[in-house]
Amino acid sequence: TAEALRRQLRRIDGRGYKAYKTLQGAYDLGDFVLHLVHVQGDPFATPSRVHVWVPQQVAQFPVWSYQSEARAIGVAHLLARTFAEKARRFSRPRGSGHSGRIEMDCPGQEVLPRTAVRLTAEGVEARFSVGLPAYGRRIAADEAQALLLEDVPRVVRESLRFSAYDPDAVRTFAEVNEDATWLRAQLPSWGLVAFVANGACLPRRSGVDERPLETGAVLFQAPPSLQREVVLPSGRRLTGMGIPAGVTLIVGGGYHGKSTLLRALERGVYNHAPGDGREFVVTVPDAVKVRAEDGRSVAGVDLSPFIRNLPSGIDTRAFSTANASGSTSQAAAIQEALEIGTSLLLIDEDTAATNFMVRDRRMQRLVPGAQEPITPFIDRVRQLYETRGVSTILVVGSSGDFFDVADTVIKLHEYRVEDVTTAAREIARAFPSERTPVPDNPFREPSVRRVPDPSSVSPQKGKRLSYVRARGRETLQLGTTIVDLRAVEQLVHVAQTRAIGQALAYARRRYMDGRRTIPEIVAAVLADIERQGLDVLDPRGLLDLAGFRAQELAAALNRLRTLRVRV
Ligand code: ADP
Ligand code: MG
Repeated sequence: TAEALRRQLRRIDGRGYKAYKTLQGAYDLGDFVLHLVHVQGDPFATPSRVHVWVPQQVAQFPVWSYQSEARAIGVAHLLARTFAEKARRFSRPRGSGHSGRIEMDCPGQEVLPRTAVRLTAEGVEARFSVGLPAYGRRIAADEAQALLLEDVPRVVRESLRFSAYDPDAVRTFAEVNEDATWLRAQLPSWGLVAFVANGACLPRRSGVDERPLETGAVLFQAPPSLQREVVLPSGRRLTGMGIPAGVTLIVGGGYHGKSTLLRALERGVYNHAPGDGREFVVTVPDAVKVRAEDGRSVAGVDLSPFIRNLPSGIDTRAFSTANASGSTSQAAAIQEALEIGTSLLLIDEDTAATNFMVRDRRMQRLVPGAQEPITPFIDRVRQLYETRGVSTILVVGSSGDFFDVADTVIKLHEYRVEDVTTAAREIARAFPSERTPVPDNPFREPSVRRVPDPSSVSPQKGKRLSYVRARGRETLQLGTTIVDLRAVEQLVHVAQTRAIGQALAYARRRYMDGRRTIPEIVAAVLADIERQGLDVLDPRGLLDLAGFRAQELAAALNRLRTLRVRV
């Protein structure tokens, strides 16, 4: 009870910080249960971990707000965002170091399953961190009492109860998330790989601010020929652009909005919070953005469909390097995406290696095929679709040679979309590219099954058996190795990076046995999460984790510089 907590605080007042450990445990505060799960070592260390449990008798969320998983996740996003904001507002410095802090990872624009807030029929659970107060290193009991029995309850009251919200807002978060999940699931049956609703706001405020552009945004409007109408589970009617399966080009002048559209499609593998502007921009769930990433490491990937006969005589059927070039890195990214499974590749020429994408007729004349190790993407993109069912959406402003291989051509003009497929076909007929397609054509199945060597994946650091840290969204530390995830653009939140770090350590423990392949290992981890939730990666609930895809987990493993595989 609150009394027990108060009494214990009196007892340890003024003592050394370590005495806080005696507080660990659960306290029934009447309206909710406060569980001090882990107490920090000193006021400057990572803050202490707290879970609170608010039963539905108190929280009072209506059944409709959590009756499907998608609804519960949508509403939990609202709760987590509100909790994080209130925590910032109501926590205050209460001594040295992190004393008095209340913090929860604030969700971004993407709606993901998270460990920070969970909403179920029984109640609401929130997990967060608090800095237990001290003066210097001495326990400040009065401050601790104010933190745990005033500040925290206030944050909980104002974020984890239905009465704290406008009911319409809760309904919107529930329904939009359910609608978007449903919409994405329908795409294949409609022969589409993506859908962009009319009225969507695609541009962002800045390169470092993912919120929607506030002023001057041109809202999305589908060209009539690609227009589709859909009725969502909530009854909402939507009109928008359906992008058919196949090869799609996004063309247009520089600065007319091509990359912005592609970026929205990349993120369309996730749902977005109401107000984001991309709520109904959805892409098939296994879509993978592929880009050049020179300098990355590659471990035993079969690049031969794209790259063969390197001057050094190196075999590209199981290619390894600590320092890939632009083209080899892009070839590796595509092969890795196919290995883990994808039905849609997304490529932006801004971040692609030109010599990987296309070689025109004149260059073919000057440097004949036999002297060129690269089979450019333009010669593989149709085969990918026709023999493997893998579609591609490609931003190209520079080369009309791609008209020959496209099913659909979309043009952006002053941020407005036009369907120029017919015009592109006519141009292709009137001005033949006269390229020589690469002769020996079949796209072979990747020839290797990559099996990680368990000893090459180690989360160990010094005496610690498992040291895993997310240093922001784009950097993961596994043991003593830093994994650079900057080019993994569909990794969107630090809580995902953190979860992927834990998943790698978990995969190493449970499934890397020198026999399982990378896709098998990744599938096993995702199946465990599916069954048991993200807690399987962090049984004590010490970390804010968010859901992630097989594609990003594999991408992290593939970028681990120590990785060695048997093929
Ligand atoms: P491109 O890839 O065609 O060169 P970008 O997609 O990078 O163009 O867009 C250029 C600029 O225009 C960016 O600053 C972007 O935020 C802005 N922009 C993109 N789409 C829109 C839109 N629909 N309304 C307003 N501004 C937009
Ligand atoms: Mg661009």
